[in-house]
Amino acid sequence: MGVEFLFCGAAGEVTGSMHLIRHRDGWVALDCGLFQGRREDAERKNRKWLVEPSEIRALVLSHAHTDHTGRVPRLVAGGFDGPIYCTPATRDLCAVMLPDSAQIQMEDIQYVNKKRARQGLPPVEPLYDDKDALAAVRLMQTIPYERGFEVLPGLRAVFHEAGHMLGSAAIELHIGDGDAARTLVFSGDVGSPDKPIIRDPAPFPPADYVICESTYGGRVTESVSDAEQRITEVVRRTYERGGKVIIPAFSVGRTQTIVYFLHQKIARKELPPYPVYVDSPLAVNATEVFRMHPECYDDDAAKFQRSTGDMLGMGCCVYVQDVEESKRLHRRRKPCTIISASGMCEAGRIRHHLKNNIRNSKNTILLPGYQAENTLGRKLADGEEYVNIFHERYHVRAEVVQIHGFSAHADQSQLLKMLTPLSGRARRTFLVHGEREQSEALAGLLRERGFGEVSIPALGERIALS
Ligand SMILES: [Zn+2]
Repeated sequence: MGVEFLFCGAAGEVTGSMHLIRHRDGWVALDCGLFQGRREDAERKNRKWLVEPSEIRALVLSHAHTDHTGRVPRLVAGGFDGPIYCTPATRDLCAVMLPDSAQIQMEDIQYVNKKRARQGLPPVEPLYDDKDALAAVRLMQTIPYERGFEVLPGLRAVFHEAGHMLGSAAIELHIGDGDAARTLVFSGDVGSPDKPIIRDPAPFPPADYVICESTYGGRVTESVSDAEQRITEVVRRTYERGGKVIIPAFSVGRTQTIVYFLHQKIARKELPPYPVYVDSPLAVNATEVFRMHPECYDDDAAKFQRSTGDMLGMGCCVYVQDVEESKRLHRRRKPCTIISASGMCEAGRIRHHLKNNIRNSKNTILLPGYQAENTLGRKLADGEEYVNIFHERYHVRAEVVQIHGFSAHADQSQLLKMLTPLSGRARRTFLVHGEREQSEALAGLLRERGFGEVSIPALGERIALS
């Protein structure tokens, strides 16, 4: 029937998610994410399309994270003008995240162009600007979970809860009809069960073809309840010695998870009512979007929301937008928790908070997730005694704690649980969104469980399907 897949990102790596499906005379894209990591490599990949944007007729998004949506404005600027389908919460998150990403692109390019000018090179344009970001949001059409919709003639889709972040979905696609009809399931990013606020992932529907993420394909992570207990202990002992807890966290998803968790602990009097400051303008805007989408909450969150009226605030939490207000936090001496971006301490206001608090042994730096190589977060996690912040050397005297259980990704055992029911039915399984060894580990286990052809596609690989 002439269906073809083309893997355009998150192939052998964890960023740049984008997979194309050629059906009849046009391409449909699943996700359109930004490549991140080493600047030059990411820049080169972000500027190149494997298929001209004007040849893509529709785009379906799994969720709002930048590595799944961050190139949509560039796609639109490059000539794509088809519909973009996503859940309502994904659209609303994109409406705050894509303009923020455009701002970062515009600031970044100033730095790049200064460097180029010194080398006598001509300036380059940003990847996209705020107008492109708004044009992208205008093309978005929202579809609730579990409601079938037509992507193109002969191609229908359904969103299923992926349990990864607010609005996240796995995408079920029905391609063609009659005897030639085939079903594809694209996992997007799969969340772990029991993750605070959002529902657990729904089981995958039966499918002929599977494209599944494998971020933690080779790893078993600590449970959410163990992580919760450890965070409670860390915050309590820091407060008892009169210190501050500094938490670098991604503005969308991780920050809200931690606020919700701390708010619950304070409400139940399991933690003293010291204030929690959320110091990130993007996190403030994203939190508003969380408030607008109670349809995505799990039972616990819905109940907590009913009893408090505002699960992400209510007295325990101060949201900081203004730079002056952020600076005032540096002078605060009493115990408190400060959550700020970026999650790996590479940019943003968190660096100021670290600079001001890292030398005091009463304080704690709590790293609630994975820290990539060569980042300041990784250096702290590795226990380095001295680190550089804004080109100055600082002695790390604060306690440093890393906790993995709040990860938004399913680990190996959870992925296997999701995939195993498809064994026997799935003709081909493609593992994406993982570093090589993580995907290989999962591929091996799937083959043992009777999955026929399991492969890890390379960037740019085209596969014709029968
Ligand atoms: Zn994600």
